[in-house]
Amino acid sequence: MVDREFRVVVVGAGVAGLFMAETLRRARIDFTVYEKAGDVGGTWRDNTFPGLFVDVLSRQYEFPFQPNYNWSRKYAPATEIWAYIKNVARHRGLTNFIRFNEEVTAARFSEGRWQIETAAGRTDAADVFVCATGFLHKPLLPNIPGRDSFAGPSFHSARWDHSVPYEGKRWGVIGSGASGVQITEALAWAGCDVTQFIRRAQWVHIRDNPHTTWRERLKLHLPGGYQREQRRLWQMINDGDSWRLYPGPQREAMEREYRSYLDYIKDPELRQKLTPDYNLGCTRIPKSDRNYYEAVQLPNAHIVKGHIESIEPDGIVMADGTRVALDVLVYATGFDPHAYMRPMNVTGLNGVTIDEAWKEKILSYGGIALPGFPSLFMLYGPFSPVNNVPVPLGLEQEIGCIMRLIREARTRSATVAPTVAATEKFLTRLAAAFPGTVWVGGCKNWYTSHQPTPVLWPLPQSEHQRFFEEVPLEDFEFMPTSEAG
Ligand SMILES: Cc1cc2nc3c(=O)[nH]c(=O)nc-3n(C[C@H](O)[C@H](O)[C@H](O)COP(=O)(O)OP(=O)(O)OC[C@H]3O[C@@H](n4cnc5c(N)ncnc54)[C@H](O)[C@@H]3O)c2cc1C
Repeated sequence: MVDREFRVVVVGAGVAGLFMAETLRRARIDFTVYEKAGDVGGTWRDNTFPGLFVDVLSRQYEFPFQPNYNWSRKYAPATEIWAYIKNVARHRGLTNFIRFNEEVTAARFSEGRWQIETAAGRTDAADVFVCATGFLHKPLLPNIPGRDSFAGPSFHSARWDHSVPYEGKRWGVIGSGASGVQITEALAWAGCDVTQFIRRAQWVHIRDNPHTTWRERLKLHLPGGYQREQRRLWQMINDGDSWRLYPGPQREAMEREYRSYLDYIKDPELRQKLTPDYNLGCTRIPKSDRNYYEAVQLPNAHIVKGHIESIEPDGIVMADGTRVALDVLVYATGFDPHAYMRPMNVTGLNGVTIDEAWKEKILSYGGIALPGFPSLFMLYGPFSPVNNVPVPLGLEQEIGCIMRLIREARTRSATVAPTVAATEKFLTRLAAAFPGTVWVGGCKNWYTSHQPTPVLWPLPQSEHQRFFEEVPLEDFEFMPTSEAG
């Protein structure tokens, strides 16, 4: 029987929120998901720009509870990932638990429960509050003088304006990250006049993206075939991880491989422009399915490197005085990775807000919880493995642990939060693991800005699993609900 007394509220119906929802549904725990948009999918709903493909194997981007035997390609296009996610939500009846178009604006811990407010004026209460609000969700626009003066269509890559025709336009793409690379490549091959504005070159993975064959699909259907493939993928993740974590021959081989991709560029000046001046892997590596380096050598594609001085109604002016006339401007300028659940106003014990708790530095225990915020959990919060573990796999491990903590708290009629000491111990352990990884060494990336250590997981994937399987209950404070403030 469903226990109507105990309630969980989940914020966000992306991959993380849906994974949590399905887990709660199966555990027969009463819950509601609030989603500020009109559909599920998060990232895959919002990012519809041309050229977007998943950067891990399609098979690694599956919910473990709903295998997909039918991916069209080795790395599926974003549209297919979104269709899969929507199918999971509908097939599992999860949409029945979601309040769409309802943004959670505030959550306050009071008298042992979370009191929740939404933009629609609704109030709700929950014993456990789960923030599945995404780590790459809040678009970041650059502060360039004259930005609002641009006369033509202009939009962030996560808000693609499909009403703008490709043909006959001079496109500008600002940004050299994963989105900037994929958009430039797609527009160039589509024959558009496209200029990509970059401040610094990125390492780009030039990869093949073949269609899956009937043989590959058949293999999955054979007795034990799916499980065998899963084990193989698991091994691949563990083996593929180590060059990021430790210096040595594997890293050197990767560096040689990435350097060799630059040989696709014939013009020495262009090659120089696109040669990165920092270590491989320090930033998330853009993946190119249709050879970005060949795409940018097409006569209709241009790379402009340097500092943008200003944006004018008809184009961009560079610091060296170069002017580039444009009709459409795309900001492939990324997201605010440190926003997490904000701008939601979250207030924990003693009236301390999340902004106050994270004022000096962002902290968390395992990326899932933090002291002073009882029975609040985050999915893919700070220090989650955003760069070396496929997201669904990381979620499986986080959610497994959260469910264990929820069960324990229910049994004890208590709230649960990590202790300060355990959180500090966790952070110290991570800090000790960063030296020698690709994420440190002077390069700038979104994981490190304003932080003493990058907000990611610097240990092997297998350690992530072990960590969550072995989380000691002594690391947590269980406070009887009747006594919680
Ligand atoms: C362009 C792009 C490409 C990517 N490609 C890959 C890839 O190839 N492989 C990979 O592993 N990862 C990739 N990622 C990372 C990707 O974000 C994760 O894989 C995953 O989709 C994150 O899921 P999530 O549910 O945690 O967050 P999101 O997908 O961001 O979902 C969060 C949801 O919460 C909702 N929400 C937020 N705040 C509120 C609120 N206050 N009230 C109500 N609802 C709220 C949002 O509307 C959204 O639906 C990519 C990210 C981007 C931006």
